Amino acid sequence: MSDSLEGFRFVSADSHVNEPVELFPERMPAALRARAPHTEVIDGVPQLVVEGMRPRKMPKGLEERDDAEIDRAQAGGWDPQVRIRDQDSDGISAEVVFPTLSLQSSFSTPDPELQMALARAYNDWGAEIFGPHPDRFAVAGIVPMIDIDQACDEAKRCLDLGLRTLFLPIQVPERPYNDPAYDPFWDLASEAGVPLTFHCGTGHEPRVVRGPGGAIINYLLGAQADGPHLIMHLAASGVLDRFPKLDVITVETGSAWLAWVMTQMDEIAEKHHMWVRPKLSMKPSEFVKRQVHVTFQNDPVGIHNRVFTGVEPLLWGSDYPHPEGTWPNSRRICEEQLKGVPEEDKRAILGGTTARIFGFDH
Ligand code: MN
Repeated sequence: MSDSLEGFRFVSADSHVNEPVELFPERMPAALRARAPHTEVIDGVPQLVVEGMRPRKMPKGLEERDDAEIDRAQAGGWDPQVRIRDQDSDGISAEVVFPTLSLQSSFSTPDPELQMALARAYNDWGAEIFGPHPDRFAVAGIVPMIDIDQACDEAKRCLDLGLRTLFLPIQVPERPYNDPAYDPFWDLASEAGVPLTFHCGTGHEPRVVRGPGGAIINYLLGAQADGPHLIMHLAASGVLDRFPKLDVITVETGSAWLAWVMTQMDEIAEKHHMWVRPKLSMKPSEFVKRQVHVTFQNDPVGIHNRVFTGVEPLLWGSDYPHPEGTWPNSRRICEEQLKGVPEEDKRAILGGTTARIFGFDH
């Protein structure tokens, strides 16, 4: 069997735009404009100021960077033509696109009105800039979840704008996703047939430790571990049982943990059956197989574990243009991690399943 991926269709289930910070003051209601993310010189240094977050130093100016850094800095920005050029050079035919700044800034303020105004500004911008290229981009609409009635309204507005998935914070610390209060939203999403995407490290502070080891600990524990956290809440609580058409995708969580979650939820559902509430109509892993997908960039353990998870939940994503992603070497990295995998499974993981879920097959 050849390991070559020549001629395979790649669709990234996890990509990002670099949205310009100016879009927020330009598109938000006048009364909230002063609270939009913006740059400000603090202690003589330009910093990004976002309500609810510590000010962050702005990245180096282009004149201080080398060519490779400039390529990456400009990549994924607000020009669809530049983006399409970069995707063509990496052999990627289509992408599901998420924000970058708004991953955190959408949910960092505790004020639900401001959260919603930020989301709406981004959603309008995303639909306007990337919407005209539906065969290349499926744009994710941001939906803050503090006020569930308003979340339902924004979800409907996103669908009217042509956005093809709803991106929710993967954790809502004030009200975890096993709370039945979310049922109207789950009902709306499953009736509309829109997939729900939950990007790792959102809705909470992903920097869970400081000091030695922080970069590694925070990526795994503050971000990837959001995957098991979410899936347990939705599967064990009966959400996936009550809403059998709900499609849930954890984004950039990796996939190696999925086999652990599926097998151990089943194990404890049986051994602790006397304490398990609510009673579920199937094993927890069966809901996961029916309704859950997870994205990874380079995760050979997740691919190996498909004997437990099946192939269906596994979605590859480039995470372009972020440094932990596979761009511009996606094909080489995937050849390596998919060595020995049957051709049909490779086609599903690299883009077939993503194309089906996010509407790239017409
Ligand atoms: Mn990502």
